[in-house]
Amino acid sequence: MKKVIIVILTLVVVVGGGRALLKLPVVQDIALDRGTAAIAQRASEGFSESNSLRIFVCGSASPLGMGQAQACIAIVTPEHFYLIDSGAGSTDNINRMGLPTERLQGVLLTHFHSDHIAEIYEVNLGSWVSGRPSPLTVFGPTGVDEVIDGVNASYRLDRIYRTGHHGEALLAPELGVLAHKTIAPGVIFEDGDLKITAYVSEHPPIEPAVGYRFDYKGRSVVVSGDSNVNGDTLEIVDGADLLLHDALSLPTVTALSKAMGTAGLSRQSKIVSDVIDYHASTDSLIELGEQSNVDMVAFYHLVPVPLNTVLEDVFKRGMPDNFLLAEDLMSFELPIDNDEIVVNSP
Ligand SMILES: [Zn+2]
Ligand SMILES: [Zn+2]
Repeated sequence: MKKVIIVILTLVVVVGGGRALLKLPVVQDIALDRGTAAIAQRASEGFSESNSLRIFVCGSASPLGMGQAQACIAIVTPEHFYLIDSGAGSTDNINRMGLPTERLQGVLLTHFHSDHIAEIYEVNLGSWVSGRPSPLTVFGPTGVDEVIDGVNASYRLDRIYRTGHHGEALLAPELGVLAHKTIAPGVIFEDGDLKITAYVSEHPPIEPAVGYRFDYKGRSVVVSGDSNVNGDTLEIVDGADLLLHDALSLPTVTALSKAMGTAGLSRQSKIVSDVIDYHASTDSLIELGEQSNVDMVAFYHLVPVPLNTVLEDVFKRGMPDNFLLAEDLMSFELPIDNDEIVVNSP
């Protein structure tokens, strides 16, 4: 058998007939064994831990975005794992980055626009299946109870099917039901070395909408959710290492709205121009950087996600060296024994 395999693989290389050979069941079976073994090996290795405060971009897009997942940021320390929002496509990125969903402790919602809550249940399901030992709690401003009660009701049958199929020992029914906790601005909890502070963001007419600051062993990160820049932003970023902020490219959005109007798409034109008043423009964020002592600013929840390098350059106009555009699967590492910020691009 071994000889046959060697001969076949040699043929693939020498003859260059890889495509044709892949039609053969025996070759497919070899590929299948190797592929599944590699996947299983990767899964068994688990998440590579580090002592740093780590930030993973599970979703960098806004509703005006293609090819990237909607808003989702993961905050991970050796003892903690929280998600901020869970927009469409974010669960896939969580899985691709191998984040330790079995120890997910909570989802912090900034507000209840669909691009921030679309995959709450997928996140819940993924961590339930991974073996999370207690119910997942979703934190958020007033209204989180209504959202989560609705999610729990919508997926009641799904939970029954899952437990019925795999058994209560594997999927205990009580661990599939989301819990919720309404939070108010201020320190919402201190969990060991991690302090999480909610602050009011400006995203009218949504009230309240919040952002979150995480402080861990002297390192800190602020995640805005959707917001304009205002005095609260300036206050919360004071002394922060990293700010991930909702960002809107005014030249792009203005041009898009105008083009849609010219093309007779008046509804779309108005909707696009409406978003300008409740997302932070890149200029306002650059100004924030000048007024504050935040070390690095990463734009996320990009309005819109740039589709090519020209649009990317438009988005980056005037950006200082300590600013960057976040993208899905990017991560930041903030070691606790120095003031470095390591950026890992996908
Ligand atoms: Zn949004
Ligand atoms: Zn929003």
